[in-house]
Amino acid sequence: MKTLFQKIADREIPSKIVFEDDLCFAIEDINPQAPTHILVIPKRVITRLGGATDDDAALLGHLLVCAGKIARERGIAETGFRAVINSGKDAGETVPHLHVHILGGRPLAWPPG
Ligand code: AMP
Repeated sequence: MKTLFQKIADREIPSKIVFEDDLCFAIEDINPQAPTHILVIPKRVITRLGGATDDDAALLGHLLVCAGKIARERGIAETGFRAVINSGKDAGETVPHLHVHILGGRPLAWPPG
């Protein structure tokens, strides 16, 4: 069965896709928590960071490089942004298909809630 994000990648569920390459794509979060809130999502499903293996290393690195590029394009690299991966219940993971949240455009509190 496809994940929600696979259905978005396959254009079965509409979403605002702001970036795409062979390995990943990026969408506007449907419930933004900051002026910029983008999700960077691998096309090959890694369920969550807590289950990632050595085989996922290059893909995980690629997601972070893409997150940095998207942040620069959005003009939030200078002011600052956060890249977040929620892994598991206590972290608030709701979609079991790993994704990197890019959050920026406002000061972000630390520590996070
Ligand atoms: P997480 O809670 O870390 O698993 O993040 C899942 C994120 O996906 C949340 O920030 C949701 O707002 C977002 N989300 C859920 N459904 C959609 C959708 N159809 N399009 C875009 N973002 C979505």
